[in-house]
Amino acid sequence: MIRRGPHSVVTAALGILGILSAVGCGAGTKADAPTAPPTTTTPTTPAVPLPIADWVEGIDGQIPLVIIAPHGGDLTPTSLPDRVCAGCVTGNDLNTQVLARAISDAFSGRIGKRPFLVINRLHRRKFDANRDLQEATAGYAPLAPMWSQFHAAIDSAKARAQRLHPRGLVIDLHGHGHVIQRLELGYLLSASELRLSDAAVTPLLATSSVAQLSRVALSRDSGAVLLRGPRSLGSRFSALGIPAVPSDADPAPLAGHDYFNGGFNTVRHGSLVASPFDAIQIESHYTGLRDTEANRAGFAEVFVTALLAYLRDHYGWVPA
Ligand SMILES: [Zn+2]
Repeated sequence: MIRRGPHSVVTAALGILGILSAVGCGAGTKADAPTAPPTTTTPTTPAVPLPIADWVEGIDGQIPLVIIAPHGGDLTPTSLPDRVCAGCVTGNDLNTQVLARAISDAFSGRIGKRPFLVINRLHRRKFDANRDLQEATAGYAPLAPMWSQFHAAIDSAKARAQRLHPRGLVIDLHGHGHVIQRLELGYLLSASELRLSDAAVTPLLATSSVAQLSRVALSRDSGAVLLRGPRSLGSRFSALGIPAVPSDADPAPLAGHDYFNGGFNTVRHGSLVASPFDAIQIESHYTGLRDTEANRAGFAEVFVTALLAYLRDHYGWVPA
């Protein structure tokens, strides 16, 4: 798992970028099942430029919150080969694109303002928007600009959000197929690290995806309190009826229980490396949350309530 030593944060970040392909969304579940088996394809150079601008969708926002939906794309253009590479996951996180849109609509309905939204429109069989360049494209060089454009869209959203407020939050929205129906919140801390005592976990926040927040949260919450205290994101969801780990009710995954602790986007777009933006990966369960339009709308309302409290408590941001 992720280990930390006295080396620099940048070195740690680079190391994590190298190994995180093992901890992103997995496959082989109902929620993540591929719609079709990958086929072997020989990469070729496209006859015409790829319409990459059509495959990255950025929606402008008015609050210091950026939501990424990397694994909910539904486009499978024949101009692209299917990804084939050792260990590649090609199954989508079912309904997470529509869930992100429902959350945006819920914000708009509640406060008349939307979060920034960045959506990968390509199916994961064609492109993985939560991996390094090589794995994202399975080495298909013509698709490299897609990877650059996706992350540039997130960088742009963060820059525009920072004009609204000095600091902000990135939520990387996913769906898991694990047995336990709960949100898995990823801060780049492993399950075994989360099982440590609060006193032992607290110093690890310095190399988490909320490293900045742990130092400067307006609430003065830091360390383990930021992960599972009463104002933590997990505790906010839990209090609203959506189980989450870590939280005050469920401080850490038990040994042997599946848990995703973050991924490429959480590293690149959070404050592990100096940034005014923190990042949290939310891996959502399927049943009762993202399976039907009504359930997605219901969760979206909970999401808005939880995030408004979180932005108020820790970032000092409230709707005007
Ligand atoms: Zn995912």
